[in-house]
Amino acid sequence: MSRHAVTVIPGDGIGPECVAAAVEIVNATGVGIDWIERHAGERVFKQGIASGVPQDTIDSINSTRVVLKGPLGTPVGFGEKSANVTLRKLFETFANIRPVRELPGVATPYSGQGIDLVVVRENVEDLYAGIEHMQTPDVAQCLKLISAKGSEKIIRTAFEFARSEGRQSLACATKANIMKLTEGEVKRTFERIAPEYPDIKSWHVIIDNCAHQLVKKPAQFDVIVTTNMNGDIISDLTSALVGGLGFAPSANLGNGIAIFEAVHGSAPKYAGKDVINPTAVILSSVMMLKYLGEFEAAAAIEHAVLTTLLDGKLTGDVVGYDKGVRTSDYTKAVIKNLGRKAEGWKVRTSKPIKMPQLSRNQVFRAAKTKEVVGADIFVESAIVPAELGPALEAIAAEAPLKLKMISNRGTKVYPDGNPNIDCVSQHRCRFMTRSGSPIAFDDALALARRINEKHEVCHIERLLRIDGADGFTKAQGED
Ligand code: NAP
Repeated sequence: MSRHAVTVIPGDGIGPECVAAAVEIVNATGVGIDWIERHAGERVFKQGIASGVPQDTIDSINSTRVVLKGPLGTPVGFGEKSANVTLRKLFETFANIRPVRELPGVATPYSGQGIDLVVVRENVEDLYAGIEHMQTPDVAQCLKLISAKGSEKIIRTAFEFARSEGRQSLACATKANIMKLTEGEVKRTFERIAPEYPDIKSWHVIIDNCAHQLVKKPAQFDVIVTTNMNGDIISDLTSALVGGLGFAPSANLGNGIAIFEAVHGSAPKYAGKDVINPTAVILSSVMMLKYLGEFEAAAAIEHAVLTTLLDGKLTGDVVGYDKGVRTSDYTKAVIKNLGRKAEGWKVRTSKPIKMPQLSRNQVFRAAKTKEVVGADIFVESAIVPAELGPALEAIAAEAPLKLKMISNRGTKVYPDGNPNIDCVSQHRCRFMTRSGSPIAFDDALALARRINEKHEVCHIERLLRIDGADGFTKAQGED
């Protein structure tokens, strides 16, 4: 029998208890796994390693290519970056697969509806690129980056995942109605690729309605593919549909690398108390076994978990902490139930996922034509738009660009300013080519330098026309 090497990261808070339970259960199936224990997260931050992920952990993952990890704590709002996000990004695990299903004995308002759905979340782009800047002392900016290649990878993975599990439909959930270039790219990619998968019913849903539909009629969903931030939020929501975060596993998949972990965090208040629900990490280890091709052991654990729940062994998150079974007793019960079939409950059979193999070229979609037709010059100023506008027009009088409008947080405030807008100190000043012909970016830079002599320029963006289409959106109220 072949053996598998897996890097195991116990994690922080409740992580070590959950991971120990999963490792014990996997070992009890008889599958040959060499667990290589490594660390990341809080204890590593304390050693002064700012990334939270030390080199020997990185080396181990590069060697085993498969990881089972507990949650890692992250300081909120200041200091170190999340070691989780670092791990996902370091190994380019671009797809996060988050399944939830109705479970026996775990009563929810949806019990009996047969919820069995999966959120496929893009895992490395979007606002999670974590590129933030103070534009002025009182205006912060976070860049939402969505690439054509990233969109194609996640959409193809979602279709391939749906196929690997014999699923019927794939919904793409975006906010393309508002963010036409970023979220819109994902929607357009989905609609372009969908015809290659005629066996899977595909449809688009706006993310806010998706959240509404998930609460109202969750069983209509099979697989949902979405961007990073949307996916983060709706996958916590979907976990609540089946009994909470204690039951929500996940897989972070890249090309030839996979990190399995619960959706939940380190829940520090329960750490070391032997009361938490280890099911999410146990089901993550089931996903890991499927990834390793150990389908029999995976099905045995899933049946054993279902049987344990059918027997009424429920942890405190489900029945209250005064009545719940201890984590260690739940784990023993699952091990005892290995080999039993959960009467009346199905376990999905699946095939390995075919991960998309896309070009590693940095330029994924080359343009035939790319012209600069203007520039958005962002200015830090306390001057009201009605005065700033004419001042900028005077500076630009001789330039090949002329001021088209000023907006404040996306709404036009000059000319014909909207008096309702409570302006902040950052103004987006849109300059367009005066002649109608493309300009050189140098012209925009020269203009920005002249503006900067009198007003503070804090940011500049080219306005591109790519293959004849505008590569920028309009401000609210701009013609
Ligand atoms: P959390 O750790 O997921 O806990 C939120 C709540 O969910 C808990 O207070 C508890 O609810 C419930 N819960 C979560 N896991 C449970 C389990 N296994 N059994 C029973 N109940 C469970 O979220 P958080 O408090 O927002 O985050 C804590 C830390 O974890 C933060 O540092 C955060 O950055 C980190 N985090 C890490 C990951 C990861 O490693 N992938 C993911 C998310 C968050 P009740 O309070 O209602 O009992």
